[in-house]
Amino acid sequence: MEIDGRRDDKRVQNELLFRAVNEKLRALNVEFEGFANELAVFVCECNRIECMTQMELGVEAFDAVCAQPLRFVVVPGHEMPGVEQVVGRNGTYVVVEELAYVH
Ligand SMILES: [Zn+2]
Repeated sequence: MEIDGRRDDKRVQNELLFRAVNEKLRALNVEFEGFANELAVFVCECNRIECMTQMELGVEAFDAVCAQPLRFVVVPGHEMPGVEQVVGRNGTYVVVEELAYVH
């Protein structure tokens, strides 16, 4: 069985790129909103390169996702069964956990 390591790397890189964008958005949101419970706008962290879908979630909820290195937030419908496991669901977002690195 062949493992497409390069595609996997690209997929994870994309998620990490959007995580970096979201970290910046988070900092801006906290700065402007003043307190962390406010809903903030983040971008979908799914592995579709072209996806820039925005979603709202609380800064605290985002922090909780970030605290787990394998977890990402995506908009509903952008989760990838088999690659990611859904660990949380809300009206506007889905929390997924990468299965690729789970051994
Ligand atoms: Zn997406």
